[in-house]
Amino acid sequence: MKSEELFEKAVQFIPGGVNSPVRAFGSVGEIPRFIKKAKGAYVYDVDHNKYLDYVGSWGPMILGHNRPEILESVIKASESGLSFGAATAREVEMAEFICENIPSIEMVRMVNSGTEAVMSAIRVARGYTGKDKIIKFEGCYHGHCDAMLVKAGSGVMTSGVPDSAGVPVGCAQDTLTGVYNDLASVQRLMEENEGSVAALILEPVGANMGLVPPKEGFLQGVRALCDKHNVILIFDEVISGFRLGFTGAQGFYQVVPDLTTYGKIIGAGMPVGAYGGKKEIMEMVAPLGNVYQAGTLSGNPIAMAAGLTQLKLLHKRPQIYKRLEELGEKLFGGIQKILQECEVPCTVNFIGSLGCLFFTEEIVVDYTTAKNSDTKLFSEFFKYMLGHKIYLAPSQFEAMFISYAHSEKDVDKTLDCIHKYFK
Ligand SMILES: *Cc1c(COP(=O)(O)O)cnc(C)c1O
Repeated sequence: MKSEELFEKAVQFIPGGVNSPVRAFGSVGEIPRFIKKAKGAYVYDVDHNKYLDYVGSWGPMILGHNRPEILESVIKASESGLSFGAATAREVEMAEFICENIPSIEMVRMVNSGTEAVMSAIRVARGYTGKDKIIKFEGCYHGHCDAMLVKAGSGVMTSGVPDSAGVPVGCAQDTLTGVYNDLASVQRLMEENEGSVAALILEPVGANMGLVPPKEGFLQGVRALCDKHNVILIFDEVISGFRLGFTGAQGFYQVVPDLTTYGKIIGAGMPVGAYGGKKEIMEMVAPLGNVYQAGTLSGNPIAMAAGLTQLKLLHKRPQIYKRLEELGEKLFGGIQKILQECEVPCTVNFIGSLGCLFFTEEIVVDYTTAKNSDTKLFSEFFKYMLGHKIYLAPSQFEAMFISYAHSEKDVDKTLDCIHKYFK
């Protein structure tokens, strides 16, 4: 197997053989498949396998892989040069397009990844409020900047203990951790730290602990608590942005954050992130204000061309979201039916084109309940699916992503395979 050979070589020169840990297949006892190309809903590996893909590069490929309009825009932009390190018209077009179509955003800054977007948004929130503490939730992933690599030990809400070696305690001690979908935990943190919390950041739809939608009223309650305690509300919409409808989770749930972070879909597969929000806050950013944030390749012309083309396609055709919702209902609703019919003690969470099959009987509402899943059972399931040429994320705690390129037939094939597995 060529993937095997490549992996053997990769581990000699790249830590763990991969450039991002989520690509490792270690937790499912496999080696990563090396992908050669992708088209529509399918990815092809170097071993001549064709897989139906439910990863979609972890979200960006909402229109499917290698959409012709996007490919064309990238080729065209490349012909004019890869980077100038200077202002370009397309950046202005991108910023205007976002500000005009996302009501909560009056000003926006482009960066190169979701991690950078979050790191910068937090810095601005701290600069604007003059306060240091940040509230995040257990099980929400916000990229790998030091202050965000924190979780609380087994649901106990203490101030930060770093989750990763190399994160100074000093960087983590200002990160407080709440329980997702538990407003009382947020209220307690805000009351105990009155006057010192700069911002609260969350995934408005938890998509990094499997898939955990907000309970009814949770986001509204968080918004109200932030207002009451003078805390900036940051929605990390790196996954949910432009996916749960064009206006993301904030439009879907009708809750207005002060700042929003984007990534993934906004770059259409190119390395892009963005953060934006209220003018008064964004005016703090250099060179206008005194919060420093910069990037040699930020607003890169090729990346802007790809991202803008994808966003415009999504904006022009609201039926894309309707279709994605229908496919989500068909796939995830179909899995639920199979579980019932075969009397399998598993749970499915889903919203729109995002979903997760948890190997636990319990209803999953937060990190603790997600963690109850049987990862051994997931591994077996994953291997079966891979063997039948269906490519899922190699972890129980990742969402499945449906794209506009998936067909009813693709979904039927997937349901068929899952049915056979549980039978
Ligand atoms: C992927 C992700 C990030 C990090 O984005 P990168 O581009 O990988 O740095 C941040 N927040 C959320 C919610 C994400 O899913």
